[in-house]
Amino acid sequence: MVFAVLLALFFFRAAPLELDGVRTSNAPDQFDTPRAVERLGRVLDGTPHPVDSAALDETRARLLQEIRALGYAPELRAHSVCQAMSGVAARCAFVQNIFFTAGPKDGPALVLAAHYDSVEASPGFGDDGIGLAVWLEVAHHLKREPPSRPVAFLLTDGEETGLLGAQAFVDNQDDYPFTVGRIINLEARGVTGPAMMFETGRPNAALVSDWAKSGARPFSNSMMTAVYELLPNSTDLTVFLNAGFNGVNIAISDGVEFYHTNRDDLAELDRASVQHMGDQALGATRAFLASDWSADASAGDLVYSDIGSRLFVSLPQVFGLVLLGLCFGASAMLLVRPTRSGGWRKLDVRALLLPPSLIVASGIAALALQQAISLFRPDTAFWMAHPQAFNMAIFTLTLLLSALALLRIAPGSSRETLYASGWFWFLIVGMGLSFAVPGFSMIFLIPGLVFVMAGAAAWLLPRFQLIAYSIASLFLALIFFPLIHLLDVTMGLGMAAMFGVIAALVLAPMLAVIGGIGSGKLKVALPLGLVSLVASVLTMIAPAYSIERPLALNFTAHYDIDEGQAAVFAGARAGALPDAIRTQLSVDAHPSPPGAQPGLASKAIAFNPPSPATATVLSDTTADDGKRTIRLQFSAPDARQVRVRIPATDMPLSISFGGAEYPFRINSSEQRIETYVIDIIGRGANGATVEVTLAPKPASSAGKMGWLVQGYWTRLPPDAQKLADARPETAVKIQTGDVSVTTTKLEF
Ligand SMILES: [Zn+2]
Repeated sequence: MVFAVLLALFFFRAAPLELDGVRTSNAPDQFDTPRAVERLGRVLDGTPHPVDSAALDETRARLLQEIRALGYAPELRAHSVCQAMSGVAARCAFVQNIFFTAGPKDGPALVLAAHYDSVEASPGFGDDGIGLAVWLEVAHHLKREPPSRPVAFLLTDGEETGLLGAQAFVDNQDDYPFTVGRIINLEARGVTGPAMMFETGRPNAALVSDWAKSGARPFSNSMMTAVYELLPNSTDLTVFLNAGFNGVNIAISDGVEFYHTNRDDLAELDRASVQHMGDQALGATRAFLASDWSADASAGDLVYSDIGSRLFVSLPQVFGLVLLGLCFGASAMLLVRPTRSGGWRKLDVRALLLPPSLIVASGIAALALQQAISLFRPDTAFWMAHPQAFNMAIFTLTLLLSALALLRIAPGSSRETLYASGWFWFLIVGMGLSFAVPGFSMIFLIPGLVFVMAGAAAWLLPRFQLIAYSIASLFLALIFFPLIHLLDVTMGLGMAAMFGVIAALVLAPMLAVIGGIGSGKLKVALPLGLVSLVASVLTMIAPAYSIERPLALNFTAHYDIDEGQAAVFAGARAGALPDAIRTQLSVDAHPSPPGAQPGLASKAIAFNPPSPATATVLSDTTADDGKRTIRLQFSAPDARQVRVRIPATDMPLSISFGGAEYPFRINSSEQRIETYVIDIIGRGANGATVEVTLAPKPASSAGKMGWLVQGYWTRLPPDAQKLADARPETAVKIQTGDVSVTTTKLEF
């Protein structure tokens, strides 16, 4: 019975995250989603509009027209800029940021930011059309209610090519007639789901409390924010925070299978997500405008979380840690709690050992399940199309192990002891994580406090023990089951073991509701074993990709100009390729293009390259300090991009582009760099010049240098296009989409 309830709760784990629908009638001061989406439909026409392209020129013109129609006077600022990604790849382009202002002119502004470029493969309605749609509608409202402090809408260019517009803004602030007070950035990593506030600057207290006043359903917790900080992902806000500004980042992140693909179109953009982001952004804008910003830099840090996306709680970080410690103390005390006759009870070692054994076993079992299924599935992400099946398989397997653990490890343990021990381990893990990353504390503290209260109630009123334990368990499920869903949505199920471990960590305290089963009753495990088996079999036979959850598959026609060879490559693992395509290709028939993963499936095509990208050495000088500077000019008619690959042995120190210099990271023994990469992206690549400065070299090792110059075109030749046309509806183009690439060696 309890297991059935848990199964049902887990099956519907995403329910608290379900959005309210689109409001059909709005008061004049409310965010109007149909109007916002209609406006977006006039700005974006369904064609990809990447940085420095003709399509972006047209998009920009339509965007400016909409802004003027709202009664604003938009301005442009153009920059040639690079971003040195991790110090090994410089990405450069010509960008044009758009801004317009509202309210008074003096004082720091509330900056409302989103980017208006897309990747080459995507029409960009979610990423970041949703941000444009929301800010334009907010701009409409700020005409009705003129703000009391300066507001600047900043629509950046070149976000997708290395956060270039944001970088240009930060580097050239004097060119803009406003200064930054606070920033709200809007983003998308998918096309649906709630808008969550997933990133803040530090200290966060003032911003988080003001954001929470938005009036929209809250959706954020400090654990997500902390995890995001640890990941290498970045958006424009990363650049702004690095520049010392403070702000919040709000994004939708479900439907990631359409992110940066040709399916990020108007039809897929979830209107309920627009509504949620719109309500939140408009509410947060008003709350930010109404609040006092003087304590932004001194307000300290909060830990926080929503509860079922209905309530929002926050605490100063230190309090969070202290309270979590107290909850842990209570669980330790409950393990050897005082008896009514006086003295302390003997520790039930079996009950104490149950949770850690279950956690370890569940992690191993989930990993083993994944490995076992992988033996029969050629696809890397076999769960892609039907993640619910694999999710349920892992969860039911953990449930089965829980039942077995109760039967085998602690058949005679009392409810109280199982309760205490489950929470003891849950809180130990929570404390460990929270001391490493304080943002974690809140999601452990909320159920922890309920645990203490329910434990006290059960101790004082033994009659209500089962009810008290059930309430604590439900609370734990309410906080953690949606989190498991979020982890699946944002990270995928690739780390199956992690999902087993989390499920076990959360299930262990709930076992108290079941209590000691007694070792004879093995039959409890039977139905669980059966459900687990069914879920595993479903996972095994479910197709890996579907129209709704497609395979990301690009084609690259590569021309080795010096060798006179050409081949087309499929950019997905051979095993994952649709039959119609796989049968035309063979693995390792041609070496993968430079920089691509090895072992791609390919076939020869006619050697009929576009007029290839080349570089001319305009000058080559060595300074007194031995540093050598090479000035290059590129020729790449009609190309989307030029790339230079420099062997690390040539020790590049920096590149100059557009009048600024960008340093490279120096090669170190810890992290071996093999190749440095320079990208010039957009129409400006043809004819662009860069200067590369190299570290001094001993004369003995001075020989001829061989760099690779590559050109990229967003199209395929006819014989490669025929292969790409076989791409089924269950596959999508992603990021740069299909490209033709030329590679030549530049020797000097
Ligand atoms: Zn984006």
